[in-house]
Amino acid sequence: MNTEDNSPKGLSRRDFFKGSAFVTVGLVSGGFLANYKMPEFFTMRLTQEKTLYQLTLMPLIFPVNCYLIEEENGLTLIDAALSFGFKDILKASEKMDKPITKIVLTHAHGDHIGALDQLKQTLKDVPVYVSQRESRLMSGDTTLDADEDNLPVKGSVPKNLLTRADVLVKDGDQIGSLLVVSAPGHTPGSTAYLDTRNNILIVGDAFQVRGGLAVAGQIRPLFPFPALATWNKKAALESAHKLRNLDPSVLATGHGNILVNPLKAMDEVIAQAENALKSK
Ligand SMILES: [Zn+2]
Repeated sequence: MNTEDNSPKGLSRRDFFKGSAFVTVGLVSGGFLANYKMPEFFTMRLTQEKTLYQLTLMPLIFPVNCYLIEEENGLTLIDAALSFGFKDILKASEKMDKPITKIVLTHAHGDHIGALDQLKQTLKDVPVYVSQRESRLMSGDTTLDADEDNLPVKGSVPKNLLTRADVLVKDGDQIGSLLVVSAPGHTPGSTAYLDTRNNILIVGDAFQVRGGLAVAGQIRPLFPFPALATWNKKAALESAHKLRNLDPSVLATGHGNILVNPLKAMDEVIAQAENALKSK
């Protein structure tokens, strides 16, 4: 799809995300690329699909997504990417001329909560929603419940996050247009959100698209990181079935492009993951 045409208010994403290039360049290169005239390569990318705006940091090298969901009177931010995405997230909301009124988390890994503290400093009254189970990870607590498989919680669990959830949600709750769908596996409290207006499904890392579509835990050599950070492959597979059975029109993941009409591809990778687990 042509993201230029779909940029909010017809503005070029290239123009309004220019700022992040320089932050990113400094971060990634320690400054040696500082004079390289290239914003396009590192800038945050914006892609729209109906009510969904995908914001992607480092789209070409290590894509990290967060999402803005457009509601009538405001925007719901799903996940908070990395710390240097902070200004771009606010800038996107400014350009769309709508305030961020809710922040919702799929899970608490570092690349999904990176800008959360900074956002909360600016958006003091905006409530943060997270599943009850995942809220423990926000304070660095990786202990398991008695009924959970005894496997280590992996990935970058935050150590110094200041922000805590304002609202604890559970499967079946509604947040604006979003239905809360519990999807454990990648982490014990991973949660997906279904936009009930159009069946767009935002899944965090329950699936990945970068490196090839995969259920959490299935290694894709070109982008193995989400699999390496996955807690429980069996639970992830059960959640993948559950998410597929919602018949999403669009699959929006933490890493990789938006996938339109994803059902056939989801069926294929779910079958693959099933066979891999069986052959163990
Ligand atoms: Zn993750």
